[in-house]
Amino acid sequence: MTNDRVASSRSLDAERMYRTLVEQVPVVVYIAEFGQHGPWRYVSPRIESMLGFSPEEWLANPSLWYEQMVPEDRERAMADEVLSREMGTPLRSEYRLRTHDGSVVWVRDEAVVVHDGAGRPSFFHGILADITPEKEAERIAERAERANRANRAKSDFLSRMSHELRTPLNANLGFGQLLQTSPLAPGDAESVEQILKGGRHLLDLINEVLDIARIESRTLSLSIEAVSVHEVVRETVDLVLPLAAKRGVALHTSGSDLPSFVLADRQRLKQAMLNLLANAVKYNREGGSATVSVDPMAGSTTIRVSDTGPGIRSEDRDRLFSPFDRLGAERTGVEGTGLGLALTKALVEGMGGSIGVESEFGTGSTFWLALPPAEDPSSMEEPARSMPARELGSVHTILCIDDNPSNLTLIERILANRPGVRLLKAIRGRMGLDLAREHHPDLIVVDVHLPDIPGDHVIRSLRNGPATGRTPVIVTSADSTPKQRKRLIAAGATEYLSKPLSPPRRFGRTPQEEPGFRPRPGSLRNAADRRGAA
Ligand code: ADP
Repeated sequence: MTNDRVASSRSLDAERMYRTLVEQVPVVVYIAEFGQHGPWRYVSPRIESMLGFSPEEWLANPSLWYEQMVPEDRERAMADEVLSREMGTPLRSEYRLRTHDGSVVWVRDEAVVVHDGAGRPSFFHGILADITPEKEAERIAERAERANRANRAKSDFLSRMSHELRTPLNANLGFGQLLQTSPLAPGDAESVEQILKGGRHLLDLINEVLDIARIESRTLSLSIEAVSVHEVVRETVDLVLPLAAKRGVALHTSGSDLPSFVLADRQRLKQAMLNLLANAVKYNREGGSATVSVDPMAGSTTIRVSDTGPGIRSEDRDRLFSPFDRLGAERTGVEGTGLGLALTKALVEGMGGSIGVESEFGTGSTFWLALPPAEDPSSMEEPARSMPARELGSVHTILCIDDNPSNLTLIERILANRPGVRLLKAIRGRMGLDLAREHHPDLIVVDVHLPDIPGDHVIRSLRNGPATGRTPVIVTSADSTPKQRKRLIAAGATEYLSKPLSPPRRFGRTPQEEPGFRPRPGSLRNAADRRGAA
C-alpha cells in the first residue's frame, strides 16, 4: 500500500469514528453557517427522534428552526444568538421547539464559533439537548414554592385575624357568662344564651379554621411522644359525658384492659377523639349509644368510635372530610361548623396516622383512626412540675397586667363577689412590675401583648425579683401557638391560658380554692363545654 493510500484509509477510519460518535451521543449535533439564522449545514440523525424531522427535511428548509420555535421564545433565542455573534463568545440558549406532531420540547442550545483559515468566524458547531424533564421538574418545584408562599401568607393572615377576633370575643363570652351567673328574667336568660351560643360558634370556627390553615402551611407544630390511648379515651369520654347525658346517649368503652401506647401529639389526639366522639353523640338517636374501642396490633393501633345514629350514605362518604360540608346537617338544628372531620383528618395524617369510616345507612357509623404503636414510656416519665407552697393569709392579692380595659373589667367583675380577694390592675408592663414589687401579690395574671414591654420580659423580671420569684404567674393570650406556649413556660410562666377565658370555671374560685394554684390548660375543656352546649 502506498503512503497516500495508507493516509487515506486512516482518514476514512477517523471519519467513521467521528460519525459514529456524533450519531450516538444523546444530543443533536449540528453545524450552521455563521450569520443571522445561517442555514444549517449538518444535523445529526438524532433530530428525528427529538423533533420528528429527518435530517434531510431539516436541512432542506433553512427557516424550519425559526418556524418550529415557540413564538414567545423567539426574541430571547435571537438575542442570545446576536450576543454570541457580536461578541464571538460561545452560544448558550434555552427555548422551546415544536415537534413535527405539534408537541413541545425544551432544548438547550450550546455552540462555539469556528473560524476559517483567515481568522473570520464562519460556523457555529453546536448541540441541542432535550431538557424537557429538567424544565418540568423546575416548573413543579416553582409551583410548589408558590403554593407554599401563598399558604404561609394565608396562615399569617388568619393567625393575625384570629387574634383580632378573639380579643373582642373574650369580652362577649366573658361578660355573657358573667350575666348567666346572676338572676335574670326568663326572656333575658334566653337572650344571653343565644349571645353565648353565637360567640361559642364563632370561637369554634376561628380555632378550627386556624388549625386547618396551620396544618396546610405546615406551621402547626406537633410534639410526638408515646401517648397512652386509654388515658386519652378516658379523658375524652369524661369531656363528652355531659353532652351524652343531655342527648340521652350512653357511652361505652371496650378493649381497655390491654396497655396501649401510640406515637402522637397528646393534645391533638385528644382533639381528634373529641371530634369523633362528639359527632357520635350529636348524630345519634335518643336512647342510642356510642362506643370507643381500642385494638392494639403489631403495626398500628386502631381506635374506633361507633354510634347507633342514622349512618352515612355511601355516596356521601367522600364529602365527609371536606371543610364546611355538613351533608345537610345544617338543616337539622344540630350545631356544628362542618370543619371537625376535615381538621381531624389533617391532624391524624399529620401525626403519621390514617382515618376512615364504615357505615351502614340507617344503622350507624364507625369512624376509625390508626396510629403507629409506641412503647410504654412510664420509666422515663418526668416528675410533675410542682408549684411552690404558699402560706395564704386572709386577704389574697391578684395582680392583673393587661392593656385591654374590657379584660380588666371582666376579671374585676368576676372577682367582685369573692370576699378576701383584692385585685390590682396595671395596663403597662412596667407599672405591673412596680405594683408586684410593692404589694407582693399571691397570683399574677399577665397578658402577652403589652404596649411597653413584651409579656415574656415581664415574666422574666418577676422571676428574677426576690419578692416575686416564686409567685404563680398565669399568662394569657388571644393567639396561642404551642411554640409560644413553650417559650412563655420556659420564660417562667406557671401556666398559659388562651383567651377567651371561661370565667365561671376558671376564675370563679378564690386562689385557695384553686388546688395548689395549678390551673390546667383550658382549651380542650372549653372545646368540650362548647360541644356540650350544642
Ligand atoms: P360538624 O359536626 O361541625 O357539622 P364535621 O366535620 O365533624 O362537622 O362533620 C361533617 C358532617 O358529617 C356532619 O355535619 C354530619 O352531617 C356528618 N357526620 C359526622 N359524623 C357523623 C356520624 N357519626 N354519623 C352521621 N353523620 C356524621
